[in-house]
Amino acid sequence: RIVFLNGSFLPPEEAKVPIMDRGFLFSDGVYEGVGVIDGRLVDNEAHLERLERSLREIRIDNPYSRSEWTRLEQELVRRNGMTEGFLYLQVTRGVAERDFFFPQGVAPTVTMFTQAKAIADTPAARDGIAVVTVPDRRWERRDIKSISLLAQVLAKQEAREKGAQEAWMVEDGYVTEGGSSSAFIVTKAGSIVVRPLSNAILPGITRQSLLRLSREDGIVLEERRFTVEEAYDAAEAFLTSASNFVVPIVSIDGRRIGDGKPGPITKRLRELYLQMAREPAVA
Ligand code: PLP
Repeated sequence: RIVFLNGSFLPPEEAKVPIMDRGFLFSDGVYEGVGVIDGRLVDNEAHLERLERSLREIRIDNPYSRSEWTRLEQELVRRNGMTEGFLYLQVTRGVAERDFFFPQGVAPTVTMFTQAKAIADTPAARDGIAVVTVPDRRWERRDIKSISLLAQVLAKQEAREKGAQEAWMVEDGYVTEGGSSSAFIVTKAGSIVVRPLSNAILPGITRQSLLRLSREDGIVLEERRFTVEEAYDAAEAFLTSASNFVVPIVSIDGRRIGDGKPGPITKRLRELYLQMAREPAVA
C-alpha cells in the first residue's frame, strides 16, 4: 500500500506527521472523499471544486491546481492498483508551535490515501439499511468539509450500538443529513424530497449529481426540509455519499419504511447513478 504525504508517495509506516500539526491539535483542516469505480475517480471535478471552497472558507491557500490534484490522485489510485473504493485527501494548516492564531509562512500538510472497498454490489445496496435519528450537535458551518468530526463519530457510534448503519441528524424536528451522507425521502406521490443547501448541511457531491439525474429522468423534486415524522411515513428513503453512491433505507428508528424493502424509485436512481459513474458523459 502506498499513501501520499506532502509531495511524496510512501509506504504508510514512513508517512509521519509531527505532533504539532494543526490538524492533530485543532482539527484545523478540511478534507474530501472521492469514490473510485473501474479505477476512475467519480465526479472528481466537483470534489476538487468543493475542496477549493472549503479551503477558501477557512483561509488556507490551495497547495495544488485542479490539474495537479487530479494527476496526484490518479497516480495514487494507479500505484495502489485500486479499481473500486474510496480516495481520501486532507489539507491542514500545517505544523507550528501550538497557538490559536494562524502561523505565518507555514506550508499546509497534504495527505492522501485510498481504501479498496465494494461500492457497486454490496449487501447494503441490495437489501437496504437501518438508520436511527440523533440530535444534530454540530457547529454552524456544516457546509465546510471540516476534519472536525467528533459529533459524527458519536452519532454514528450511537447508531451502530442501536443496530443501525447510519445516523440521521435532527435539528428543530427536521432531518439535516446523515452522519456521513445526504438524506432523502420519497413521498407516496413519488416525488423526491431533499433539504436545500445552506450552512446546515454539507453540499454533497453525490446529492448534486443525483438531483441532476432525477431531473433528467423526469422525477419530481422537492427541495425542502422534512421532519422525522414525514420520514417515518415516507414511501421510500435513501442516502447518498461518494463512498456508497445510493443506498436504500428500509427502517428509521425501528419503523419500517414502505414495505421494508428497497423502493422502486430508489433502485432506479441507484441504477442511474451507477451508470453515470461507469460511463461519465463526455462534456
Ligand atoms: N453529509 C456529510 C455530513 C458527509 O460527511 C458526507 C460525506 O462524507 C455527505 C453528506 C455526502 O457527501 P458526498 O456525496 O460529497 O460524499
